[in-house]
Amino acid sequence: MAGGAAMADGADTGRACVALIGGAGFVGTNLAARLAQDNAFRPHVYDTDPRKLAFRMGPDARCAFTPFDLGTDDALLDRAVAGADVVVNLAALVQPKRFLDRPLDMVELNLMGSLKVVEACRRHGKRLIHFSTSEVYGKTGGRDAPFTEDSTDCILGPIDNHRWIYSCAKQMLDRIIHAHGLEGGLHYTLIRPFNFVGALMDWLGPSAEQPRVFASFMNALVEERPLPLVDGGTARRCFTHVEDAVSAITTILAHPEETRNRIYNVGNPANEITIAGLAALMTDLFAEETGRPVPLRTQSVPGEAFYGAGYEDCDRRMPDISRISALGWRPQHDLGRTLRDAMRHALANYDALCGFRPAPATGA
Ligand code: UDP
Repeated sequence: MAGGAAMADGADTGRACVALIGGAGFVGTNLAARLAQDNAFRPHVYDTDPRKLAFRMGPDARCAFTPFDLGTDDALLDRAVAGADVVVNLAALVQPKRFLDRPLDMVELNLMGSLKVVEACRRHGKRLIHFSTSEVYGKTGGRDAPFTEDSTDCILGPIDNHRWIYSCAKQMLDRIIHAHGLEGGLHYTLIRPFNFVGALMDWLGPSAEQPRVFASFMNALVEERPLPLVDGGTARRCFTHVEDAVSAITTILAHPEETRNRIYNVGNPANEITIAGLAALMTDLFAEETGRPVPLRTQSVPGEAFYGAGYEDCDRRMPDISRISALGWRPQHDLGRTLRDAMRHALANYDALCGFRPAPATGA
């Protein structure tokens, strides 16, 4: 992995420069690794903390990294966008525990910070692929239909339930980007991820903070603790293999005109499961992967005790993927494969990854 901005050599001529803002987190690292192998693209990652990227890439990968803080490095952002062919904005704080603990950071980074990326793209006339979130849809409100990009209402809880500040900040940004498309000619695509899982997700090891559910259950299994089921684990999610997610993003990258000024759900509807079901399945897979019998042990925890006051869950998140399917993309990994691959990577690298802690402004 090249440090600083320098990476161009003869071999890079003709490859489109993709600037990945906040691109050294979970999704960005896996995306950059794929782009680095593709002769059409030249990834350049801008982020605070290069450790996941370095871990995934090794020293020789064709990927540049520049240390970058979205809060302060305005001139660098301007240069990064000016020099890119396409900008992918992944900068976000995405762990629900942080929505509760640091609600103002949700606005500062997820709205105000990302707004600078949007404005730089508009200023320089650059194509923007921005990571929205499936959280924007909120809760189902009793509907049983999948979430559809242009027709599903976004239903959030009351202000007191400040978990929704993340969803609200991200929704506001989606609306601003949409308005820039209408009024200012911005060329954009919004991606709404549905529970991506895979290598380098969140962080592992004893931590004061609760990571997302896959890492939380991994930690409990490794440490032989009961798996915490928030409010009994009745919520449902569709877990999506990060390799499928990366294929979806590269498909969108490769279709600039068809995807212009549109929103795309990226998820795997066939992989839906309750969180209690996930606990049982991960326990079985863990026993198979480690070769020792592991009994299912869970413990129901009230949401407000687990996350803090102001928590309210999204009861179900089911994507309608007909729009992205029309581009020829289909998820390839079923739930068992998705969880097994993520688990194998976590088990094989548990010691090395335990040193990782979330950076203040890491990418999604
Ligand atoms: N959850 C759980 N135990 C945990 C972590 C999360 O039961 O240790 C639940 C959480 O309340 C939610 C679901 O698992 O219903 C998914 O949570 P996650 O943090 O992965 O992200 P979300 O999909 O809510 O954004």
